[in-house]
Amino acid sequence: MKFSELVEYLSQLEATSKRLEMTRILGDLFKHAEADDMSAIVYLTQERLAPNYEAIEFGMGEALIAQAVAQATNTPLAEVKKAYKEKGDYGIVVEELSKAKSKKLQVEEVFEKLREIATTSGEGTVEKRVGLLADLLKQSSPREARYLLRVPMGRLRLGVGDVTVLDGLSWSETGDKSLRPALERGYNITSDLGLVATTFKKGGIKAVNKLKISVGRPIRMELAERAKSADEIITRMGECALEPKVDGFRVQAHKDGDTVRLFSRNLEETTPMFPDVADAVRQQVKAHKAILEGEAIAFDPDTGDFLPFQETSQRRRKYGIDEMTQSHPLKLLAFDVLWIDGQDVTGVPYKERHEKLGALISEGPGIQLIEQIYVNEPKAIDEFFTAKIEAGLEGIMAKRPDSTYQAGARNFNWMKFKRAYQGHLRDTVDVVVIGYLRGRGQRAKFGIGALLCAVYDAKNDRFRSVAKVGSGLTELEWAAYREKLDAIALPHKHARVDSNMTPDVWIEPKLVMEVQADEITRSQIHATGMYDDEAGYALRFPRVVNPDREDKSPEDATTEQEIMAMFEKQSRTEVKE
Ligand code: AMP
Repeated sequence: MKFSELVEYLSQLEATSKRLEMTRILGDLFKHAEADDMSAIVYLTQERLAPNYEAIEFGMGEALIAQAVAQATNTPLAEVKKAYKEKGDYGIVVEELSKAKSKKLQVEEVFEKLREIATTSGEGTVEKRVGLLADLLKQSSPREARYLLRVPMGRLRLGVGDVTVLDGLSWSETGDKSLRPALERGYNITSDLGLVATTFKKGGIKAVNKLKISVGRPIRMELAERAKSADEIITRMGECALEPKVDGFRVQAHKDGDTVRLFSRNLEETTPMFPDVADAVRQQVKAHKAILEGEAIAFDPDTGDFLPFQETSQRRRKYGIDEMTQSHPLKLLAFDVLWIDGQDVTGVPYKERHEKLGALISEGPGIQLIEQIYVNEPKAIDEFFTAKIEAGLEGIMAKRPDSTYQAGARNFNWMKFKRAYQGHLRDTVDVVVIGYLRGRGQRAKFGIGALLCAVYDAKNDRFRSVAKVGSGLTELEWAAYREKLDAIALPHKHARVDSNMTPDVWIEPKLVMEVQADEITRSQIHATGMYDDEAGYALRFPRVVNPDREDKSPEDATTEQEIMAMFEKQSRTEVKE
């Protein structure tokens, strides 16, 4: 197809924002395109040069675009910039300045040139890119140049979404959207609209139906619906499997021998960001080829505790990856498997997939099979939910045991049950230190990983544990603080202390510190508010904000009653999602 023809379609698309009209225009475009141009056309209408999961980017900002326009049109740079100030769109600027005649560019040529620009690297990259783009503009008619330039600038803004492309494909053959479900299946398992379009053009819907999962190419991920209550889960599913819902990064890992690729929920490749996860997959996945999914979460190497999302999210970065891998190592909690050595297992019921997943992973620090239990009554769901919230997790996932893995679907085969409440408790809490744990990772060399802290039970004049605090101080502060604690260490639990957890070192309840927590949760671990067999209360994600409240005596610390009141207040303002 000539690029000028494509440009006519692009301008028609630009002129409408109605979905049906767009579908019709795309249908017409696809009908007239040749099979070999299909993927280029699909990518270009979406301002891309490859499927979403391939991170090919133009890497040309406005300054370089301006240079290319100046070069292509023989105009002084200052004039180009001035024109841009007036028009606000380099597409229009180049159209007005260009006097070139079209050299009858083909879509394929334009696409290849644009890819060349984007993938150019090495010395002089910037100049090379500007030169290549200027060349291409010189070969285009003013109108072609206008649309061409908008692609690298991400300014086509046609609003052609994935679903509209699929509808357009269906329309090109049937004049309606009836083939959309089949096309969508093809897209869900390949994540590549260009591939689906080419396959469809070449072999019709039959060929699309034969598309298969392939190791190395991401599969659009299955998602969960929300559950409002434990009752709702049982009503919809009956007996179901429960897993903790961990708040980290979704990872779809593709292993092909030693080659491992990781993809995020949005199908971006995250392999360079998470080398520790990639290594773990290499070492702990027993199959030569496999695709598995899990949630990667950072943990504190000192305490072994999982960290809140704010910490895990620090791993989302391009630089300083080595240091981050040390300070915030990730663990992959594997929860599903889609492919094992030549076999697509997405059609196998979840229950069996989970068993296969268990057999696929060998022991090791980097990957762990997610905890799972089967339940058939709401009470058991609530118990599991409470336990996971207490452990600092986001909530739980319920899964239908007989469900297949449905790529790209969000339905009631998976249900998430979580707390909507997030963020900070408005007030900080003053706690009394009653002991400390030595820690296992980095901080073990200072001999202190976390503090066991309590609040004051004024009624009985006791100190009751409420939190394990392991963050908020620098390494040096931890070391100094430990010296202070050792001076008042005890060989056993202090008589006025209640705690179900035993620290490595008990401390006389003397020192008060101020901590900030995200919220208060019900807890089996801590003694605060625990009477008879009822659950107590705990601080979720506590961190030190002021280590020395020397102005306060231990009896001035926050009281147990205050914690319970804070919990009540918080419960009234939160809803379970
Ligand atoms: P949400 O982002 O709230 O819609 O919840 C879905 C996300 O929860 C998934 O995309 C995963 O990243 C994450 N997740 C955490 N734990 C699990 C689990 N056990 N099973 C499936 N997804 C999980």
